[in-house]
Amino acid sequence: MNIEQEYIDTEALLEGHFLLASGNHSRRYLQSAKVLEEPKRAELICKALADIIQKSGIEIDTVCAPALGGVIAGYELARALGVRSIFVEKKEGGMELRRGFKVAKNENVLICEDIITTGGSAMKATQAIEDLGANVVAFASLANRGFCKREGSSLEAKEECKLPSSVPFFALDDFTFEIYSPEECPMCKEGSVAIKPGSK
Ligand code: ZN
Repeated sequence: MNIEQEYIDTEALLEGHFLLASGNHSRRYLQSAKVLEEPKRAELICKALADIIQKSGIEIDTVCAPALGGVIAGYELARALGVRSIFVEKKEGGMELRRGFKVAKNENVLICEDIITTGGSAMKATQAIEDLGANVVAFASLANRGFCKREGSSLEAKEECKLPSSVPFFALDDFTFEIYSPEECPMCKEGSVAIKPGSK
C-alpha cells in the first residue's frame, strides 16, 4: 500500500500556502476525508493498516476514534480487525464518550486518527478512555506527519510528540512536510496569504 500515491490519486494531498491548526504554515496539506471518499479504497487502505497491527500480535477489543476526523478511518479499521468501533467527541478541555458508547474495565482499546501530527487529540481520546478504566494499547493513523515514532520507521520522535513511547503507534508511512512559523514562512515573505483548508 503506497499511501502517498493514494492521497495524490484522490487529490487529498493539497499544494499551496496553508495555515495549520498549530498556527504554522506549510506548502502541503492532507485532506484525509478525500482519500476515504470511495468506500472501496477506504476499505483497502484500512485493511493494509490492520495487517500491520495484526502482525504485531497486540490484542485489540475496540477501536476508538476522536470525532470528526478519525471516525471513518476508525470504523474501517475496526471492520478490518473484526472489532467494535466507537468514537469520542470534544468537550470543554478534552473529549468524552457519548451516545451510550461504553468501555469495560481493562478492555483493550486502539486509538485511531486519520493523520497523527503531534498526537494531541489522540491523547485527549486516551484520557477519556483511561478515565473509564480501559487500557489504550496502541495508536494508529493512515499516515504519520513525522513528529511521532511509527513502528517500523527509522524516523525518531521529535520533542513535539505527545504520544507515550511505551505504546506502539502504527501508520502506513511518514509524511514529513516542512512547516514554517508565520514569521519565517517563505510564502508569506513573497506576499501570499495562508489559507486554512480544514473542514471548509
Ligand atoms: Zn505563510
